[in-house]
Amino acid sequence: MLSTQTLLTAANEFGTPLYVYDASNIRLQYATLKQAFRRSDVKIFYACKALTNVNILKILEQEGSGIDCVSINEVKLAMKAGFTAKRIIFTPNSVGFDEYLEATALKVNINIDNLSLLEEFGHHFGSSYPVIIRLNPHIMAGGNIKISTGHVDSKFGISIEQVDLIRDIMERTNITVKGLHIHTGSEIKDLEVFVKGLELVLDQTKHFPDLAIVDLGGGFKVPYKPDEVGTDMEALGQKLADTFEAFEQSTGKKFQVWFEPGKFLVSQSGYFLVKANITKQGPSRTFVGVNSGFNHLIRPMFYDAYHKITNISNPDGELKTYNIVGNICETDTFAWDRELNEVRPNDIILFNNAGAYGFEMSSRFNSRNRPAEVLFTNGSLKLIRRRETLEDILEGVVLD
Ligand SMILES: *Cc1c(COP(=O)(O)O)cnc(C)c1O
Repeated sequence: MLSTQTLLTAANEFGTPLYVYDASNIRLQYATLKQAFRRSDVKIFYACKALTNVNILKILEQEGSGIDCVSINEVKLAMKAGFTAKRIIFTPNSVGFDEYLEATALKVNINIDNLSLLEEFGHHFGSSYPVIIRLNPHIMAGGNIKISTGHVDSKFGISIEQVDLIRDIMERTNITVKGLHIHTGSEIKDLEVFVKGLELVLDQTKHFPDLAIVDLGGGFKVPYKPDEVGTDMEALGQKLADTFEAFEQSTGKKFQVWFEPGKFLVSQSGYFLVKANITKQGPSRTFVGVNSGFNHLIRPMFYDAYHKITNISNPDGELKTYNIVGNICETDTFAWDRELNEVRPNDIILFNNAGAYGFEMSSRFNSRNRPAEVLFTNGSLKLIRRRETLEDILEGVVLD
């Protein structure tokens, strides 16, 4: 945890709105996963869409992590951070064959989630470029429907009921399948969901003679609300090892297990700092209006996400109930009826757990600049992305 003093210093030195990340927390989360999965042959691939600043990618590269990329640009950012091709998986959805070709030229691991693309890939490469296939296991899981990706009506993956069609393509094109992948959603606390997914995948492995990898995706839950608990990683690690060991005993087969956590690795490392611009007393509500909005942190408006919010400038102030709103000219509410120590103009307001899908989903809506990003590492604060200016907004606009 970064101290209030460090956060106030950051706000003072770099201005607000500001994202601050704690490098040691990212390293700690990575170590927690390695420890929890120690009984199995597990490799971690950071799902970098959660937070792609190259300085953050470098931290995980140094820890020994792999990386999961969902666009060709993410693959290129990963390489900039020092990841070698074999530590990169390319797991896109709804991309064209040209993007796959670009990824194969970079020699990264390829994950295919569509039958027609698999066929095209097979005709093009035959057995020369073994691939991973994303299955849709038909499991409903995750924090809410918008972040559930493995249910029967999800666009992701090839239905687990279409494995015979995959087999046909393998026969026709000679394509080699080296791995099976599932990713059922985000914020999954229930261990049984992971075990169920694993069992469904293990059951399919018999159809794939060259299989070496079982990739169980990401989606580990981190606590957002004060009374919430995250996924019990230690218990999950044990359950997984038990399941794999039983499978090995009955079949003699052994797989490497891949995971792709995003949130778990970076969410808690992140702090979002904004400034209270105004307070407004309405007939039934008191508002705090801050110098940011859903253009900088969209999770509350996008999927009703909860972030802990505190007034770090007035920790002993009287508790009052506020609606905390942004400055975007649309409904823009970070929190309804939230207790905060009394807010005065210019107070610094802190959002916790802002490392994942925070800056990364930010935009320039309302022609406002995106925030700066700062990394706290080795006891000091380091700017890792400068604040945008009007020039950034104008860059790329073609003027007469
Ligand atoms: C987004 C994503 C993840 C990470 O999900 P988290 O909930 O952040 O852990 C993992 N794998 C794939 C394929 C993804 O798209």
